[in-house]
Amino acid sequence: MPVPEEVLKVVELTKKHNTWRKKCINLIASENVTSPLVDLVYLSDFMHRYAEGMPFKRFYQGTRYVDEVETYVMNLMGELYGAKYVDLRPISGTTANGAVFYALAPEGGKSCIVKLSGGGHVSHSKYGIMGALKITPHELPFDVETMNIDIDGAVKMIREVKPKFVVLGASLYLFPHPDKEIKEVCEEVGAVLVHDVAHVLGLIAGRVLPNPLERGADVLTSSTHKTFPGPQGGVIMTNSEKLYKKIKKVVFPVFVSNHHLHRLAATGITALEMKYFGEEYARQVVRNAKRLAERLYEYGFKVLGEKVGFTQTHQVAVDVTEYGGGAPVAETLEKANIILNKNMLPYDTPDKIKNPSGIRIGVQEMTRIGMKESEMDVIAEFIKKVLLDKKSPEEVKKEVVEFRKQYQKVHYTFDLKDLGLSEIVYLSE
Ligand SMILES: *Cc1c(COP(=O)(O)O)cnc(C)c1O
Repeated sequence: MPVPEEVLKVVELTKKHNTWRKKCINLIASENVTSPLVDLVYLSDFMHRYAEGMPFKRFYQGTRYVDEVETYVMNLMGELYGAKYVDLRPISGTTANGAVFYALAPEGGKSCIVKLSGGGHVSHSKYGIMGALKITPHELPFDVETMNIDIDGAVKMIREVKPKFVVLGASLYLFPHPDKEIKEVCEEVGAVLVHDVAHVLGLIAGRVLPNPLERGADVLTSSTHKTFPGPQGGVIMTNSEKLYKKIKKVVFPVFVSNHHLHRLAATGITALEMKYFGEEYARQVVRNAKRLAERLYEYGFKVLGEKVGFTQTHQVAVDVTEYGGGAPVAETLEKANIILNKNMLPYDTPDKIKNPSGIRIGVQEMTRIGMKESEMDVIAEFIKKVLLDKKSPEEVKKEVVEFRKQYQKVHYTFDLKDLGLSEIVYLSE
């Protein structure tokens, strides 16, 4: 049979995407690239299989290696983050949050969260899984100057609201949230402290950010594919046996049936990359973010967190109101192959959601392919050319594509040659 057009179409689109994003400066703060070794381990027969339940207590046959690999990776993650209980079954950060929120408030109730415009994630909000679970989130006050939770205001609110649990962590996360202070008031009112570290899991492994579990967080929830550069997935970690017993019973059967088994081994390799290269990687990520923020600031951009050193993470937030707002700015930069997203800033009202004041920039992926401070200077200059000098984005794109050619290899990983392996080749044009 001749290959139908439809088949070619799907193959073509995949090729186009793969080729295009290798020619882009990818600055979406929630993304990253997996290493060739992670890819090799990811593409396996595990992806065809089912393994409902816990390791060695499954509802299916054929899981002997799944059981072993899941247990091994749970232990690796536990070692990396100092957690006694690790659950890798949530297939995303949102699923991890759903399971934890439901376990903590099965009949609904009250919670306190970081407000959406302060970077809070939709899954913490009334529009997301929190709302669907009939849990009412109260938004903690946020301080634009420090780009962080307003501690005094938050303590006051938690005392008044007496929530079942408090969620720290956000998608715009420039500075570590004040977990110690919040923990104290949580203890006072009997609230559980959850820290959603989806964005910064890799930075915690690299020890450039404190580990919330060591500072009083009762539960960590996370994605496994942002600064932690693994396959897309979720994880829950805790040291509390009492909490974990509840959470475990919710993950399956409430939020997950099968848990996408090919993620497990690949997440394990990523954990080992973090164990051996994590500190070097995380330090470079933060240096790069600071450098990019400084350069943009010098060009006259309104970079947030000016009084507190702009950032301690992989992210930079810029108010681009004077260039038309986050939406047109992000679209124009995309024409220059610079990919980032529009973002709400703490002072944005809900009606600004379609065209918020800000853009959010993340440098973790570009760091992973070997970029350092001097490359951040080049990126800042590209952004300046498009937004300040009003150069045609199509012209700047040519320079971006040329520049990006030198950065095609993932760093901070193990050499395939040393393992006698060769790289999987993605479809490309
Ligand atoms: C990205 C993110 C999530 C959701 O993760 P998914 O894996 O996309 O479901 C949850 N919380 C925060 C703070 C995030 O930034």
